[in-house]
Amino acid sequence: MTMSINWFSAGATALVLLLTFGLLGAMFLIIKLSSDDTGKYKVLKDMVETLFETPAHLRSGSPPKNDADNKEAAAQSAAALEPFVETCPACGDTVTEAHQECPSCGLRLQ
Ligand SMILES: [Zn+2]
Repeated sequence: MTMSINWFSAGATALVLLLTFGLLGAMFLIIKLSSDDTGKYKVLKDMVETLFETPAHLRSGSPPKNDADNKEAAAQSAAALEPFVETCPACGDTVTEAHQECPSCGLRLQ
């Protein structure tokens, strides 16, 4: 009876060890394949990146992100030049986005 319990315990331990090494081996294989830059395992790589929650732009310091930032900055400066018609705070003359300075009194508007 005692022998059979020991055998069961040993079998369970062996199974756990086998599973652990199997998982480690699978993980190592996945990481090894995912670090392959040929694009052959692109899907696998994306999967691993999703698993480890590492954004793609952090892994490959890609310039397209800077491009997006530049576009954003350009959009913001474009928004700053939105058309407007206001009265000059100094002389009350009408000024628009086209005026850097008030045409009447020369007050700097931007
Ligand atoms: Zn003015």
